[in-house]
Amino acid sequence: MAKTDQAKADKKRQQDKERQRAKRQRDAEKNSSLGIREYRVTLSQTEADALTDLCAYRGGVEPYGAAEFIATLIRRDKQRMEDEKAHLGTCDFCGEPLPTGCKNGLGIPRLKGVEKCFYTRDEKKLRL
Ligand SMILES: [Zn+2]
Repeated sequence: MAKTDQAKADKKRQQDKERQRAKRQRDAEKNSSLGIREYRVTLSQTEADALTDLCAYRGGVEPYGAAEFIATLIRRDKQRMEDEKAHLGTCDFCGEPLPTGCKNGLGIPRLKGVEKCFYTRDEKKLRL
């Protein structure tokens, strides 16, 4: 009798495992079809603590979940980038479109060190 119960429990556990695997696969296929990607991020203890603090501080009444917070941060920084790009125009010194013009389109600053050039003066302001 006990042996039969054990066999039933094993069978149920196996079926649950299979159901979970199938669900994970369906979810992955659904996310993939929607263009949703999953990232795995390694954080130090200090960064993880900061994330927890930020989720609570920025969340209002209910703290953000970590994924929700990071996704919101990305959307907001994307908007900030678009706003910056809209106002960058061209370098006063080089006359080239910013932010890549002064770098000669190759990430290499052509006029690094020339004080009037955007690259020397303000490029760091674009960084996080
Ligand atoms: Zn320039």
